[in-house]
This record gives sequence, structure tokens and C-alpha cells, in this order.
Amino acid sequence: MNARTESARLYKAAQQHIVGGVNSPSRSFKAVGGGAPVFMKRAEGAYFWDVDGNRYLDYLAAFGPIITGHAHPHVTEAIVRAAQNGTLYGTPTEGEVALAQRLKEAIPSMDKVRFVNSGTEAVMTTIRVARAATGRNKIVKFAGCYHGHSDLVLVAAGSGPSTLGIPDSAGIPVSIASEVITVPFNDTDGLKLALERWGDDVAAVMIEPIVGNFGMVMPKPGFLEEVCRMARAAGALVIYDEVITAFRFHYGTTQTYAAAFADFAAIEPDLTALGKIIGGGLPIGAYGGRREVMAQVAPLGPAYQAGTMAGNPASIAAGLACLDVLREPGVYARMEALAIRLADGLRSSADRHGVPLTINRIGGALSTHFCDHPVTNYDEAQDTDGERFARFFREMLERGIYLAPSKYEAWFLTTAHTDADIDATLEAADASFKAIR
Ligand code: PMP
Repeated sequence: MNARTESARLYKAAQQHIVGGVNSPSRSFKAVGGGAPVFMKRAEGAYFWDVDGNRYLDYLAAFGPIITGHAHPHVTEAIVRAAQNGTLYGTPTEGEVALAQRLKEAIPSMDKVRFVNSGTEAVMTTIRVARAATGRNKIVKFAGCYHGHSDLVLVAAGSGPSTLGIPDSAGIPVSIASEVITVPFNDTDGLKLALERWGDDVAAVMIEPIVGNFGMVMPKPGFLEEVCRMARAAGALVIYDEVITAFRFHYGTTQTYAAAFADFAAIEPDLTALGKIIGGGLPIGAYGGRREVMAQVAPLGPAYQAGTMAGNPASIAAGLACLDVLREPGVYARMEALAIRLADGLRSSADRHGVPLTINRIGGALSTHFCDHPVTNYDEAQDTDGERFARFFREMLERGIYLAPSKYEAWFLTTAHTDADIDATLEAADASFKAIR
């Protein structure tokens, strides 16, 4: 491994011009002890190369979107072709219709779709639409779930399981935070209390139905069914934030994840927010849902939402190409098989070195929690050894394995990862566990 002198130089320069030196806080190494993040220069397949000439095996997958590996030829060709035909028209295009149709085929609860530019925008708009449809203001969300950086969803729990929210960020008015109720994930009691107290004012219950933001966390059996049932009984809509999870574990969303949920109708959301994978690595977001609810959206209805870049031809083309790849038979089974080998290997290696480790694996994604208890909610995810994770992260980095620089983020397999990559990862992990025990 070459010394990362060029990364260090660029980080210094970046800090002069870009706030904090990064364009998204999750890219900084603040959560893993600070210092210069690695500046990448090029990526292909399961690997990327930094500005100092080092190669890394990538488990970040750009925080989720890069499920076909970097620079997949089919996706790249689609982007090049789109760019050659002009990058933006400000008119409708045929591709938008095709991608909307593809999403609808895979997601039964989506009668109507609207494309936007990010997951944040998608979520933000589902809230507006739910408020328009119900004439109510409050939102219930689950602790630790991340729904982008718009005001309403950057609100944490208050001191009790169902108190009104306190802002998670400066710059969010208390009046806005007071419209948000945060309850614990995988615990219907908190939701029950919240709905008993504020149910008449609740426009929507918003949830990551499978969590991707405090590790990978499955809902306990019956939990989603109960969330949907209770929300509806209170006259509130159900919003699934599937920005990370859609097309991650199988070709579809949580709603159609037959490996985990038999009764799709019981867990059907009114609105779903999408992003990441559906843009094949270019900026995108989308939201959609039931016809009557989506009829609130302008130009049909009174809820306004717009976007100069929305549905831009390159993002749409990349998204279609990415879904082409994912639609091929066996793709998800291969990623899952690799993830199983990886999880099993990490577990036995950590055991061998006496490092407490809980692994949550769902399909081709997994999260590693340095603790000896299960992780089923945010409290349990917080109660893990972040300092030890930081040391593990550094050890892996020095061995050419790039993990997300946060103890809460997942490891993502892509269609480009191979058995040899898993072997190399397990070898690096064994040495890393040894170093941090
Ligand atoms: N929702 C979820 C579940 C997410 O994981 C994210 C991003 N990590 C977002 C929303 C926000 O998406 P974006 O970063 O594209 O705005």
C-alpha cells in the first residue's frame, strides 16, 4: 500500500474550498477517528483506485446504488448514448414512461410514479402528499431510520418512547420538530401509545420496512403487518422509505420480498419512496403509490412538486440499464451466496480472535456490530463498540478493503464481486480481528 500522500494533499485543499472537505458528511472519516478520507480516482467492477495508486475492494457501493459494480458496460453504454442525444430537454421523454412502467411491474402498490432527483426529495414529497391526502400534519417515524435531510425527518426521539421530536440538526424550527413523533423500531407498544395520543393528527407513519441505516435490521415477524394495521385504524397513511432496500435483496421491494413476507397485501404501503439503485449510479429519486393518493400531486391535484432535472434522460437510461442487469436470472442468488460465505467467515474469524461480533445479513447485504447482543433496534445498534469498529475499519483499509466509514452502515455485495474477492476479504479480516482483539 502506497502512503496516501496525495489524498492528504487533496484533503487539505478540499478543506479550503468545500465545507469540511466533503460534499456529504458520511464521506468524511469523522466517525472512524478523523483524518483525511481517501480520494478515489477511478472505479471498475468491485474495485476502486485512489489518487495514490492503491487499489481497494469496494463494499461501500457508493452507499448502495452501485449494485452492478462500477462502470458496468451495459450501464455505461446507456449513459453515453443518453448523453450523446442531449442531457436535458425539459419535456417528457419515452424513457421515463419505460422506467415508470418497470417500477410498477415490480412494485404492486405503485399505481402512479413521479421521478425526482434524490431520496431526500422523494421522501419529502411523500410527506407532503400524505398531508394533502389526509388534511393532517403529524408524522410518526422510527428511531434510527434515516429518511434524507429534509426538516421533518431530521428529528430524533424525545426522552420517552413516544414523545414529540427534538431536532437532530441546527436550523430546524422546534415548530416543525413538534410535528414529528419518533417511536422505537420493532416495538408496536411505542406506536400504539403515539397513535392513542396523537392519532387524529397523524398524516402518515413513515418507516424503513427493512432498516438499512442502523445496520441491516429485519422487522420482527408480524411487526410490519401491525404497523400497517394500526396506522390505517388511525386514518393515517403508511409510507415505506425503500431508498436503500428497493431492488437490493431481490427484484422488487420489501412488499414483494417473498423470502421474508408471504402476505404482501398485509404489508402494502400507500406511498413508497425510492432512490439509489433505480438510477444505476446517477442522481435519482422516485415516489409513488395508490392512484387516489397520487392524484393529490400537481398538475392533477393541489400538492405541488416539481424539478428541472427530474426524470433527466441520463439518470433514466442508467436506471433502466441497471434494472436490465438485475432482471437476469440468478443475479440475486449469487450475491446472497457470496454474502453468506462472507458473514460465516467473518463470524468464525471474530470468534477465533475473541472479538464479540453480531452480523445481520439480509440477501446480499450485511452489517457488522461489535457487540455480543442482537441488534433489532436503534438502541441496540448504538450500544456497540464504535472505537473497535474504527480500528477494524482502519486495519481493513490498510489491507485494501474499503468499508463504509461508520459502524452503522452496511457492507454491500454487487454483481461484480467474486468468490476470490470473498477469500481476500476474509484473509484481510482475519488479520484485522487479530490486530484489534
Ligand atoms: N432514505 C433512506 C432510507 C436512505 O438511506 C437515504 C440515503 N442514505 C435517503 C432516504 C436519502 O437519499 P439521498 O441521499 O439520495 O437524498
